[in-house]
Amino acid sequence: MLTIAVSKGRIYKDSMPLLAAAGIEPLEDPDVSRKLIIPTSRDDVRLVIIRATDVPTYVEHGAADLGIAGKDVLMESDADSLYEPLDLNIACCRLMTALPVEPVERHGRLRVATKYLKTARKFYAKKGIQAEIIKLYGSMELAPLVGLADCIVDVVDTGNTLKANGLYADELIAQISSRMVVNQASMKLKYSAINELLDKVAGACQQSVA
Ligand code: AMP
Repeated sequence: MLTIAVSKGRIYKDSMPLLAAAGIEPLEDPDVSRKLIIPTSRDDVRLVIIRATDVPTYVEHGAADLGIAGKDVLMESDADSLYEPLDLNIACCRLMTALPVEPVERHGRLRVATKYLKTARKFYAKKGIQAEIIKLYGSMELAPLVGLADCIVDVVDTGNTLKANGLYADELIAQISSRMVVNQASMKLKYSAINELLDKVAGACQQSVA
């Protein structure tokens, strides 16, 4: 049995057509069924539906053999023993710093609101800036508007959300897309099944790019 960890939403929607190339089609819609383990059209493959930020943890601990996660989540995760063999080129966006269009006077250290603590810390440390990183779980765009932070670090797609909140994207931290990750032991023990799956999904990725 192969277990694939995936989150609902954008990544689920964009990755299912790619898994279909490997004959994997979910037998139930996780939005409707509320089940967390979803059987597929292949007897030997099931999906587990979890939060995006939990995908690396499930795969690292072997609770799932494979997972689909955004590069932003992988960069932030402490799971450092995963294989990352395939860029699926889906859910693409950019991890950026963003600043208020109307500059606000700053006193003391730069305050940065983000859910990407680790990545933001690394980014500012590399620039030699001693920033105070303020952890938020969502709606980062609000923080500079109410004086909680001077700027934010967040993922940007069209930039519309920033614009609607009087912010603009400034520095690029990383280009983001979703990746297939694999548990190290699974890669050895289930090599042929995983390799075949990766080959088929990679083929579908190339077709969708062409
Ligand atoms: P946009 O207004 O198109 O720039 O979208 C920005 C918002 O959508 C961000 O605040 C994110 O919460 C979300 N978002 C956009 N692209 C992605 C992505 N690939 N993965 C996760 N969240 C995203």
